[in-house]
Amino acid sequence: MTIPDRILMGPGPCNPYPEAVEALGRPLLGHLDPDFLRILDETCEGLRTLFKTSNARTLPISGTGSAGMEAAFVNTVSDGDVAVVGVNGLFGERMCDVAARCGARVIRVDSPWGEPVGVDAVLDAARRHHAKVIAVVHAETSTGARSDVAALGAGKGDALLLMDCVTSLGGIPVEVDAWGVDIAYAGTQKCLGVPPGLAPLTINDRAWERRIERPRSWYLDLGMIGEYTGAARKYHHTAPVAMVAGLHGGLSAIFDEGPAAVQARHEECGQVLQSALEAMGLELFAAAGSRLPELTTVRVPDGVDSAGVRKALLERYGVEIGGGVGQYASSVWRIGCMGHTARLRNVTMLVAVLAEILGR
Ligand SMILES: *Cc1c(COP(=O)(O)O)cnc(C)c1O
Repeated sequence: MTIPDRILMGPGPCNPYPEAVEALGRPLLGHLDPDFLRILDETCEGLRTLFKTSNARTLPISGTGSAGMEAAFVNTVSDGDVAVVGVNGLFGERMCDVAARCGARVIRVDSPWGEPVGVDAVLDAARRHHAKVIAVVHAETSTGARSDVAALGAGKGDALLLMDCVTSLGGIPVEVDAWGVDIAYAGTQKCLGVPPGLAPLTINDRAWERRIERPRSWYLDLGMIGEYTGAARKYHHTAPVAMVAGLHGGLSAIFDEGPAAVQARHEECGQVLQSALEAMGLELFAAAGSRLPELTTVRVPDGVDSAGVRKALLERYGVEIGGGVGQYASSVWRIGCMGHTARLRNVTMLVAVLAEILGR
């Protein structure tokens, strides 16, 4: 069976960096092999640099981005704890569901899809309800909008600040310590340019001291997973060694190019794509001023069959883009420029073939 070669310009996964693919293909190491532990330590160190944190507890959780979300909530909220969640899209909604399953009393603060999360409304709700946790998605992949996490951190008061940076880490600036974020998680298949399978997570001392002693998940109990680095390391579950090697390879690609250059590349691709789509007469969906460069949302023109265009892109050109989410399923397209996919050559090609298919 042959697997087709695609250009992945959907909301994820993106095309992995060649260094990640190469690392995945290397001989497997045992999960307690000293050479694997060195790779794991270097991976955690690279994640610290990208998260912009000095948190000792920074590690890749086994599982995709949603495992990071679940680990973040199950270790910080339990029966009756108040979680105030800013919701401006699908992933904010998922946070509410996950927090509620952990037993939290969820206070949901909605903003229109396509807009950033309302900072004042979230902080106000957190004060009134004595929130233990304030949770927010930095880059809403369902809508293409960026929220102001630094402003939430500045006003969080006694609450812990929990940030989803699945679609931002590695693509746009993320500043865990400077923004006052207490716990954050990401995923490998978005801007980190690695196949899906791990959820980088970081937690500071403040959140660690207030964590749930015996969380309702055995697998995601951060206390049992331990510090992952140093002499205290002991077996909890078998680390997904190949995936960790893949992440190590992806991080090497990012550090070889330089994180600032990688972000500039994402920024440029987003700018060029968004201007070209507007020049084609298409309307962008996310609010101006809050648009993510790595995930562009654009309205499907009236009378155009959204699924038909995506099918033509995939079948004629081997290019994948995403449809919309929820009520926007067939009225919005989501175009990712993440990781290794974030190249001008991909943007230029997509704009040309989309113009051809749409006859514009
Ligand atoms: C993709 C994504 C997730 C979920 O990650 P999975 O890898 O699909 O489990 C969570 N939050 C955001 C913002 C995402 O984009």
